[in-house]
Amino acid sequence: MVKYIFVTGGVLSSVGKGILTSSIGKMLQARGLKCTVVKIDPYVNVDAGTMNPYMHGEVFVTDDGGETDLDLGWYERFLDLSLKQENNLTTGMVYKSVIEKERRGDFLGRCVQIVPHVTNEVKNRIKTVGKAVGADIVLTEVGGTVGDIEGLPFLEAIRQMRLEEGYENTLFVHVALVPILDVTMEMKTKPLQHSVNELRRIGIQPDTIVARSPKMIDSEALRKIALFGTIPESAVFCSFNADSVYQVPLILDKQGMGDFICQRLAFKCEGKDFSAWQGYVNAMVNPEHEVKIALVGKYAGLTDSYVSMTEALRHGGGACKTKVCISYLEAEKLEHEPQCVKDLANFDGVFVPYGFGPRGTEGKIAAIQFARENDIPFLGICYGFQLAVIEFARNVCNLKEANSTEINPETPHPIIDLMPEQRGIEIKGATMRLGAHKVVLQKGTLAYSMYGQEEIYERHRHRFEVNLDYLENLRNNGLCFTGKSSDGRRMETVELPNKFFYFASQFHGEFKSRPGRPEPEYLGFIQACLNKKLGKPKTEIA
Ligand code: GLN
Repeated sequence: MVKYIFVTGGVLSSVGKGILTSSIGKMLQARGLKCTVVKIDPYVNVDAGTMNPYMHGEVFVTDDGGETDLDLGWYERFLDLSLKQENNLTTGMVYKSVIEKERRGDFLGRCVQIVPHVTNEVKNRIKTVGKAVGADIVLTEVGGTVGDIEGLPFLEAIRQMRLEEGYENTLFVHVALVPILDVTMEMKTKPLQHSVNELRRIGIQPDTIVARSPKMIDSEALRKIALFGTIPESAVFCSFNADSVYQVPLILDKQGMGDFICQRLAFKCEGKDFSAWQGYVNAMVNPEHEVKIALVGKYAGLTDSYVSMTEALRHGGGACKTKVCISYLEAEKLEHEPQCVKDLANFDGVFVPYGFGPRGTEGKIAAIQFARENDIPFLGICYGFQLAVIEFARNVCNLKEANSTEINPETPHPIIDLMPEQRGIEIKGATMRLGAHKVVLQKGTLAYSMYGQEEIYERHRHRFEVNLDYLENLRNNGLCFTGKSSDGRRMETVELPNKFFYFASQFHGEFKSRPGRPEPEYLGFIQACLNKKLGKPKTEIA
């Protein structure tokens, strides 16, 4: 029998529903229960793939090639899961499938309506996800804020699930902001009370309420939340600001939330084990060293655009007891104010992330050149990999106008070009090279020494790749392509063996990074930044 936990949010978005949902999963997992998670995104897009990261944060890529909401990244990192496209549910996806069924004649004779046809589709999808993996519990996070027009069909669906699955098999968790007024330092629960009323208006009474507040709520606020929320005080919890988001499950469990949920859902759990998790958290919050990383990107104004990369850098830091301080530098600034490029000398490492389109690319190329020429540890991911190859072609192979056809379709030296199977594709949704693909690493290289195996599976999201016509020239000038696709025709990693650390990958290692199990390319980079800072020799290649 699968049980269901639904997480809704109130007052405003970005209140930390993703972290709360992941933390609930962690508390249950620590008690030996098997969880999976569904994220509902009420927007009309079929998936997150066509959205600008500046609007919605990064697109998280799953092993099966889903372009999903960044919260799936939090679920994977907290619960060490490999989720699928189906774990992300959008209005676009639900309506698309209902309309396809209607066109096929599945509802022949009937008027197709939001209730029951759309809500049935939502319920079936949530249940299917749980059954597919044999979960004890499916956690479902409803994106957006209670009261949004777009969210209504989804809230109606979860309301019905209480009726159909039964009280003891369903639990509603509501999280809302409890701000502290900076004039009086008072905790204000009224916005939270209103959001609970909004939820009740559509027929959902929360079983537990989590106050999201800068610090632990006081007894007066707790009493009010319980009273106006119509729940016992023992069902009110507080998620306050912590040094690391990975502390949130420990904070909530200490308040009794894990035990409360298990009792309420009649799970008989014998004890709990947070020891491994506690270990990762300790390493991350009690660092012995610090490194400064310059992340040079085009979405630098919204750090959520780089959340998996930021976390992967931190996981690498955790493994070598190092605090990773990241400065998000706007690539365009380096382009327009070239005198700023030399400020990169103040950093222990230069990191060039993913990206699309021409904006800021010259700034990124300048940053890569500076890192290479001054032997500052460098890591490039996807676009960062492609731009590193372009930089090398321009400044070492002397192909001055080398470029990607994504940036300049007329370039005389298309070092990076559209993949053959991408030619002629006009539809933008889900048409890139996506998801996990095999990468073969060459022995005796930095890539192999970091990953410790010849075959790895890494996630991808790109349309362009290294043009094979230029391989010989690049190689003759010293650039080493050390990882390739299984047919040997796609370049996956690049390195310069004479440098302290110079590595870039076409794949995105960050999507598989976990606390306590950092992705090798990120760990190798942070370790190198630290070694260089401490004056230690570079890691020898095994
Ligand atoms: N824009 C590049 C491509 O499509 C790189 C994509 C990325 O960085 N994810 O190939």
